[in-house]
Amino acid sequence: MEDKFYLLASFEYVADVQIVKGKLESEGIPVFLRDENTLNSDPLISNAIGGVKLQVYTKDKERAIAIYDEIRAYAVDNYGEPIVCPNCKAQKSESYYNSKGVFYKLFPFFEKRKYKCLNCGMITNSK
Ligand SMILES: [Zn+2]
Repeated sequence: MEDKFYLLASFEYVADVQIVKGKLESEGIPVFLRDENTLNSDPLISNAIGGVKLQVYTKDKERAIAIYDEIRAYAVDNYGEPIVCPNCKAQKSESYYNSKGVFYKLFPFFEKRKYKCLNCGMITNSK
């Protein structure tokens, strides 16, 4: 079991998982989700379990990582321009959520967006 599956990523929101899952499956890679049902039925519980875990077969690991890297939509600003990291100038940022509160888990759109640079790890505030 341990080496049969590879944990590709964990997500806080089911909507994000569905995007990645759909893409991987369209590439012929079987996807296994953990805790999704719990999350759907009771968002509060996702606090305790750390969101949804997306796993693939270990044999699909390399391909899955390549696809995931390609599609985990690098964040763009309100004008569709890539977020440029102020530290290393890389244009590879992803949305980042840091609120711990249940309120923001239920209503993530109330949270001010932040971006995390995938190159150096720097976190920037949205404009
Ligand atoms: Zn950076």
